[in-house]
Amino acid sequence: AENEAPGERNENIRVVVRGRPLSTGELEAGYESIVHFDSVQQTVALKDPHSGAVKSFTFDHVFGPDSTQPDIFNEVARPIIDNVLEGYNGTIFAYGQTGSGKTHTMEGGSGKAELRGIIPNSFAHIFGQIAKAEAHQKFLVRVSYFEIYMEQIRDLLSKKTDREKVLVTGLEVKEDKEKGVYVKGLTEQVVHSADDLDKIMALGKKNRVTGATKMNAHSSRSHAIFSVTIERSERISDGRLHICVGKLNLVDLAGSERQSKSEAVDDRLKEAAKINHGLSNLGNVIAALTDGKSTHVPYRNSKLTRILQDSLGGNSKTVMCANLGPANYNHEETMNTLRYATRAK
Ligand code: ADP
Ligand code: MG
Repeated sequence: AENEAPGERNENIRVVVRGRPLSTGELEAGYESIVHFDSVQQTVALKDPHSGAVKSFTFDHVFGPDSTQPDIFNEVARPIIDNVLEGYNGTIFAYGQTGSGKTHTMEGGSGKAELRGIIPNSFAHIFGQIAKAEAHQKFLVRVSYFEIYMEQIRDLLSKKTDREKVLVTGLEVKEDKEKGVYVKGLTEQVVHSADDLDKIMALGKKNRVTGATKMNAHSSRSHAIFSVTIERSERISDGRLHICVGKLNLVDLAGSERQSKSEAVDDRLKEAAKINHGLSNLGNVIAALTDGKSTHVPYRNSKLTRILQDSLGGNSKTVMCANLGPANYNHEETMNTLRYATRAK
């Protein structure tokens, strides 16, 4: 922003925008794109379909509909992962209304290699780097996969019986000196290769859908957090073991769309209120960190930010990827997304 002194910006937090192409269905129905992406100036221009007025926004990076999965990976994820391998924490969020491309960005399409999203590409990169490491360095990679729905935490990798037990109450967040903030009883699975990952992602996905169905909800109404811990150990010259640990969090956020009051019944309104609270608190946390002058960062105001506390701020690197669908009927939600992302910047 213009009124900031140079050098004050927190370089560890970046906000990028990704617009998906119009879908075949949207094209067939005659919808038009009202968003113009400029990947040189890093601006997004949004046209109001009624008045024709155009509003322009600037971000750290803008990915238009022609951007590829590797483009996103290289620009958004690679620097964070390299940092995680050095023992720092990092977090990538996908934000946006349902249907805007969050899951496409995070997980991507299955099958074709070029459609793989940030999560599988991260694993390929992590194990590629491990293969290149020096022989005296040993690595241990662990993953957990969980979701937060209505401020309750559900393990997506636990055994079926364990999962049903906690469906009602959810897992607890704990804090201690050694571990920092952690989720008690959360499954951690050791991963030995990038191939192991597909099975884990598939299992988590399946559990996410069945869990949501049981609770009469939709998986787009929960945050899904894929968390990778990389531990590197090496003997240093005096024979002692030196261990460094970095953590990567890949977060597919709940859909940001407003629930229309006329359609929603009681439970849906409660659900929407929780989601809105969670997303706006995340926005507040990121805005406070970016601003750098805030003395209070409201981590404790939501489960998501509380759990990610050690991975947001400080030496951690964070990217907020705001996804949007460019069609005219999405104007209001797209405007909300661009405003949210601007505030985080
Ligand atoms: P969300 O997770 O935000 O609800 P999805 O990732 O499921 O949205 O995307 C909605 C649809 O749009 C899916 O069919 C997906 O394959 C498609 N899609 C999303 N982003 C892109 C993209 N960049 N290029 C091509 N198709 C995309
Ligand atoms: Mg999704």
